[in-house]
Amino acid sequence: MKGGKGIWKERILTMAAILILAGTGMTWLGNITVPGMQTLREPENSARKAVGEALVQDSPESQTFLAMDTVISMEIYGDHKEEAVKKSVDQINSLEALWSVTREGSQVYELNHHQGSPVKVSKETAELISFALEMERETEGALNPALYPIVKAWGFTTREYQIPDKQKLQRLLEHTDFQKLQIEEGTVTLPEQMEIDFGAIAKGYTGDLVVETMKKYGITSGIVNLGGNVALIGNAPDGKPWRTGIRSPYGEGTIGVLEAGDCHIITSGGYERYFTGEDGTVYWHILNPETGCPADSGIISATIVGTEGKRCDALSTAVFVMGLEKAEAYWRTHEGIEMILVTEDNQIYLTEGLDGRFALNEMSQGIPVHVIKK
Ligand code: AMP
Ligand code: MG
Repeated sequence: MKGGKGIWKERILTMAAILILAGTGMTWLGNITVPGMQTLREPENSARKAVGEALVQDSPESQTFLAMDTVISMEIYGDHKEEAVKKSVDQINSLEALWSVTREGSQVYELNHHQGSPVKVSKETAELISFALEMERETEGALNPALYPIVKAWGFTTREYQIPDKQKLQRLLEHTDFQKLQIEEGTVTLPEQMEIDFGAIAKGYTGDLVVETMKKYGITSGIVNLGGNVALIGNAPDGKPWRTGIRSPYGEGTIGVLEAGDCHIITSGGYERYFTGEDGTVYWHILNPETGCPADSGIISATIVGTEGKRCDALSTAVFVMGLEKAEAYWRTHEGIEMILVTEDNQIYLTEGLDGRFALNEMSQGIPVHVIKK
């Protein structure tokens, strides 16, 4: 555990900032007390190391801070946990400085302000863009990072919400063919009027890079929660799988608990950011790239579990857009991911790899659960 007055001052300032933001009504992916996903542990699950006859409590190195427009928390066990956490916090801040869509000087900001002329980007940014191009193709356009002008038109960036008119949406949709972006040896050129944002995949990819860093420090047990996107390193310190609460799309709290380790658990839901229009309709931040309007696929929450955070994040958004039928078809033809889908008619669909590992909590007991088989 880190010590010294400076650290406490830093923590108090972070917590104060979190409370002030929460007080202004800004929406987190979930909220501060019940984040998008909460990794739950029972008291007997706490870390214990047998040393001779005695049991010694191995307290985690914990950190909570604001970055990437959300609350990030870590709980890390192991011999080099302090250095690993410090390095990971620095890494997250550096990645945010590269990928923030609103921060002047970030590489994404530079790209959005240099359409038509080439911009040299870092290795991480080039990898993120290449991966996004691959996932746009693989999801047949359900994931599309070139929707930024439309995300802005709805006010999801500034939280000054409005319903754009159909003509405006049609006009903006003309510049969203993400495959027209050119990338060659670390140099990226965006077509004129295209603007990109990696809100749908950057936190998942950050999770991958942080887990890589943690593993370099020999960390074999820990949780990194990036605003509800959970990266689990190994199992809990007692060797049992982590128990992660999956955020309920119906309100605060969780819908059930998933037992898993060494994986990423990433959920997309309409509840993360939305507004109610004057017409009484709820408009959320995940858009259908074909219409430019909030996705209306019948899925109200999509959780993806897998070993690659960037893939889970890309797919959580894409599956929310695709709907149940296409999501099932995708799952049947692609290895290495599992899904928990909640539909607007209040059914839960679970892919068979999670069967027996996901349990509804008491409040959700009446909801029918269907297992999707290969
Ligand atoms: P997530 O919470 O991972 O599902 O990401 C949602 C965010 O990605 C939104 O806040 C938008 O900034 C952006 N976005 C919305 N719709 C899409 C889409 N169909 N493809 C890619 N990014 C999107
Ligand atoms: Mg996503």
